Amino acid sequence: MQSTLYEAEHTAFRHMTRAFLVKHVVPFHDQWESDGMVDRGIWTAAGKQGLLGTDVDEAYGGGGVRDFRYNAVAGEELVRIGASGLGFGLHNDVVAPYLLDLTTEEQKRRWLPGFCSGDLITAIAMSEPSAGSDLQGIKTTARRNGSDYIVNGSKTFITNGILSDLVIVVARTDVNKPAAQGLSLVAVERGMPGFDRGRNLDKVGLKAQDTAELFFDNVRIPAENLIGEENGGFVHLMEQLPQERLSIAVQAVAGCERMLEITVEYVKGRTAFGRPIGSFQHSRFTLAELATKTQIARVFLDRSIDALNAGELTAIDAAMAKYWTTDLQNTVADACLQLHGGYGYMSEYPISKLWRDSRVQSIYGGTNEIMKEIIGRSMGL
Ligand SMILES: Cc1cc2nc3c(=O)[nH]c(=O)nc-3n(C[C@H](O)[C@H](O)[C@H](O)COP(=O)(O)OP(=O)(O)OC[C@H]3O[C@@H](n4cnc5c(N)ncnc54)[C@H](O)[C@@H]3O)c2cc1C
Repeated sequence: MQSTLYEAEHTAFRHMTRAFLVKHVVPFHDQWESDGMVDRGIWTAAGKQGLLGTDVDEAYGGGGVRDFRYNAVAGEELVRIGASGLGFGLHNDVVAPYLLDLTTEEQKRRWLPGFCSGDLITAIAMSEPSAGSDLQGIKTTARRNGSDYIVNGSKTFITNGILSDLVIVVARTDVNKPAAQGLSLVAVERGMPGFDRGRNLDKVGLKAQDTAELFFDNVRIPAENLIGEENGGFVHLMEQLPQERLSIAVQAVAGCERMLEITVEYVKGRTAFGRPIGSFQHSRFTLAELATKTQIARVFLDRSIDALNAGELTAIDAAMAKYWTTDLQNTVADACLQLHGGYGYMSEYPISKLWRDSRVQSIYGGTNEIMKEIIGRSMGL
């Protein structure tokens, strides 16, 4: 079944993105995996190519088109090429809406040109050692002091944590109120005294992506770095999280499609008992079932992207998309690796990397258990 989501301009953008990745990313990605992060230069190269901030106004150096299909194309191509180290999805899909929807004109002028050129790499820091699924556990504070805020606390698991120049930090501005009424979003910038990076965390997959701890020790930030409303942070997060979850679903479906493509090729070529292993009924049925589920996931995803563009994607739709597609991704990853036999467990076979990179998808962006809580609560349960 042909997807009807994309139009000619998205296909052109896909070709351009793919050509860029083949030339500037594929030859270097293995090295970046060993380094635990990508080279900063790839960010500015991507900026020059127009891959960052497609939905930012042209006046600030962006592409000027608010259409999530471009984000989806970029996300799909990164998965397809195996470029799991590039935190462009976090920058373009997750952080951009905060900088577009919640910032003042002065903030836009300060941050968006660098955001689009790749000179200002961004991150968002919610999670803390004692606050992951439960934002009530957030201990980081941003205490008002004259015309500044003083930020204290720490964050962990932060994507782009080492490379980022601007981090949207979720902090308590009112410690006497529950998270829903006492959190704010503040921008902490590279070089501010008291802002330190911790370890670049050693992970199961996404080896070239820097995921780090961040520490804030009396970091003084100007009040002009407050993003959105003071004490409105929780509401801002709830408004923006559906797009983050859809971005994860995009990667999940692209991952399923890629893993099936690789595996179908493999089982046609590998023989056992005098025949291609793909011709055993078990292999055929497994792949037929997973191809069907992936096709269904694609249809739901395409519809969800349309809904997001129309401003109609609900938190429940996004939770369903995130939970179902990433669970499927893990099922596909496991089955496809199994069909590769021992070769699937070898790092030189692409399926092993796709399997490693898939595992986190049901965890970050809100775990799939939390997604089911959101869906279940919407049913009055
Ligand atoms: C590679 C990576 C990148 C990340 N990037 C970022 C980032 O950029 N920014 C950021 O802020 N965070 C980031 N995270 C953090 C991520 O969002 C959290 O790991 C996730 O929200 C889960 O929180 P936790 O790890 O503290 O697990 P916990 O909240 O401790 O959960 C542990 C288990 O308990 C279950 N559980 C918890 N509460 C419930 C409940 N009410 N009902 C049922 N089950 C429940 C969970 O589903 C999970 O299975 C990243 C994590 C990883 C691994």
